[in-house]
Amino acid sequence: MNAGEAGAATPRPVTSLRGVGEALAGRLAALGVHSARDLLFLLPIRYEDRTRVVPLGELRPGMRAAVEGEVLLTEVTFRGRRQLLSRLSDGSGSLTLRFFHFSTQQQQGLARGMRIHCFGEARRGAGGIEMVHPEYRRADAEIDSVDDRLTPTYPATEGLTQGRLRMLVRLALAQVSAAELRDWIPSELLQRADLPSLREALMLVHQPPVDCPVEELMNRRHPAQRRLAFEELLAHQLSLRQLRQNIQAEPGWAIGSDDALTPSLLSSRLLASLPFRLTGAQRRALAEIESDLARERPMLRLVQGDVGCGKTLVAALAAARVVQAGRQAALMAPTELLADQHAQNFQRWFAPLSVPVALLTGRQTGRARQSILEGIREGHAPIVIGTHALFQEGVQFANLALAIIDEQHRFGVHQRLALREKGAAGGRQPHQLIMTATPIPRTLAMTAYADLDVSVIDELPPGRTPVKTVALPETRRVEVVQRIRSACLAGRQAYWVCPLIDESEEMPYSAAEETAQTLAQALPELRVGLVHGRMPGAAKERTMQEFKQGVIQLLVATTVIEVGVDVPNASLMIIENAERMGLAQLHQLRGRVGRGTHESTCVLLYQSPMSQLGRERLAVMRNTNDGFEVARRDLELRGPGELLGTRQTGLSQMRVADLSRDADLLPAVQRAAQLLLARWPDHVAPLIARWIGQAEQYGRVG
Ligand code: ADP
Ligand code: MG
Repeated sequence: MNAGEAGAATPRPVTSLRGVGEALAGRLAALGVHSARDLLFLLPIRYEDRTRVVPLGELRPGMRAAVEGEVLLTEVTFRGRRQLLSRLSDGSGSLTLRFFHFSTQQQQGLARGMRIHCFGEARRGAGGIEMVHPEYRRADAEIDSVDDRLTPTYPATEGLTQGRLRMLVRLALAQVSAAELRDWIPSELLQRADLPSLREALMLVHQPPVDCPVEELMNRRHPAQRRLAFEELLAHQLSLRQLRQNIQAEPGWAIGSDDALTPSLLSSRLLASLPFRLTGAQRRALAEIESDLARERPMLRLVQGDVGCGKTLVAALAAARVVQAGRQAALMAPTELLADQHAQNFQRWFAPLSVPVALLTGRQTGRARQSILEGIREGHAPIVIGTHALFQEGVQFANLALAIIDEQHRFGVHQRLALREKGAAGGRQPHQLIMTATPIPRTLAMTAYADLDVSVIDELPPGRTPVKTVALPETRRVEVVQRIRSACLAGRQAYWVCPLIDESEEMPYSAAEETAQTLAQALPELRVGLVHGRMPGAAKERTMQEFKQGVIQLLVATTVIEVGVDVPNASLMIIENAERMGLAQLHQLRGRVGRGTHESTCVLLYQSPMSQLGRERLAVMRNTNDGFEVARRDLELRGPGELLGTRQTGLSQMRVADLSRDADLLPAVQRAAQLLLARWPDHVAPLIARWIGQAEQYGRVG
């Protein structure tokens, strides 16, 4: 939120305010405040009514209150530690102020006979009621008459008192010019949404009148706060739309669709070779993709569909189109495991059609890597599958026309943009197809993915039996091991997902190793395998291959298998410490079973006692198999930032808005974005710059 608002006055630096030197400016910078105007967008986290002065005689422990009194005595004592004590009285009662950090100046300011106004939390002390480190100042008729406002508390930062911050904000309110605070939302739009102007909103949030409903302010539901949230959401919305415009300003490759029904076509042949037919939802998504591909404007499409709905196949059919037209398609997966698996599937589908499939992960090195890179560069590799290795330097595509990104929630907007750059060399943008199994509610999708068109695959292939989910306490582990034995002896396979000990990668890995050993001992008649993120790629691949072929019957794993892994014969999933995992992750993990025709079970092992949140999550898992329902509950329990993945969207870094609290604003935000782009296009850039800043603008990345 700084320089460069086109068409706007350059905001004056914070040092232009009286009393702000370099040192203070540095502390303010820690709060993201660089200009005087930034101060106004630093919103209070709390408000207090200090206009009512509570008589000391009415003060009770636990009350946060404003009081006034005369200093009877101030002294430095050494009770355990050096401290300043000051005793106040107002006739109705008395109060001790206690300071552990204090200056001589402060000591002098509390001289006997002074009248002091102070605010703090009353607590029971040794000699009656006291306040520790209260805010205080001289009771002063002039200031007190101004004190007819609720008092804001700002986010704290080292070396900056609340009093100082309040004063700075007051200065900024008075001095920031009208041009700097120009309202980029035309009043017509504000009226329509029933929201106040920018200046009114800022005045109110910093200096709410005493009769302002504190409750509403605290919940950030006051129209003034909603106005600011609205503007912030609008800025994000516009920024994503601009990204879309920027991408689509360049041409893509029009991939013909006129001969869609020709049996000799690669995609028709691929379809004909399958032992099943596409579901209606897959057909619909594919039709939308094909119609996008046929245009010269680059596609930007998100395919949302619950785990197991068959997104990979839809992607393969899209790739077939592109290959048919003599261009390249690339598929990027978030893990090596998943890239391997996609490569195998694609090989299985495309080898009979004599279309080679190349795999590029961090694992290929030396000559092998060189030759893959050369194939990609020369165009001998029409289909390339890989991890993020795909968008590293040194990877050059001959004519990339389609970039497929699987499990979008694992990648950031930035990575997506980097892949797009790979195609831009030829002066044309590749089409982008993004696949995600994180179903999110519609309004949220329109906000988070405002740059994308959305197709939804809302149907699972026929013949799947819903997964039965049970939650069992850890104490019933032995029983669970029995269950694995009988399932595997009946010809099925099982996963055992190890607990998440903490966020570090090493811990689950050693836990997984230990669990694998214990289980192998308990189940001598079964072959037990182990995969975790730290394993060398080749070993991982070998183990997965053996599990796929049924050589390994029980696969112990960390959450690396969370995404995409597809072994239809596996019918039992055990998740340890399930109470600590998020709903989205549990649902993804559970999606690894129930892929074949066998009845599948997911056992959620938990450790007692469980937190309320843990209990609720497991209940959601037991009660529904529907990814959309899980996502809806996840949104309620965790909020959207978590649901979408934090870094990915930029939405979780919002200053004022909160997607769950302000979700009801979203439809109006979308309408406003459209209107602004159509009728006030010159307002768009300054609005984005005010909230998002230049560096982070999605449209400018890469
Ligand atoms: P996801 O959408 O979670 O990525 P996958 O693409 O891994 O799902 O598909 C899950 C499984 O369903 C795969 O084994 C795939 O071959 C199979 N599949 C895909 N489409 C169909 C269909 N129309 N009928 C039957 N099985 C299908
Ligand atoms: Mg998948």
